[in-house]
Amino acid sequence: MVQWRCFQCHEDMAETIVELEFSGVEGSAEGIKCPKCEVKYLLEDIVINKVFPAEAELSYK
Ligand SMILES: [Zn+2]
Repeated sequence: MVQWRCFQCHEDMAETIVELEFSGVEGSAEGIKCPKCEVKYLLEDIVINKVFPAEAELSYK
């Protein structure tokens, strides 16, 4: 799988379950979490470029 990194501190993100609440209905979804700043993203957030693959960072330098 692709290794994601946090857009803020560039730590490797870990897969996690993100808890959600919409209109008082609780649920959870697949996501990723930064072990450093503990920010969490849903996988659907990745689509809008809040995080990026490690490979992209290598070519960015
Ligand atoms: Zn972070």
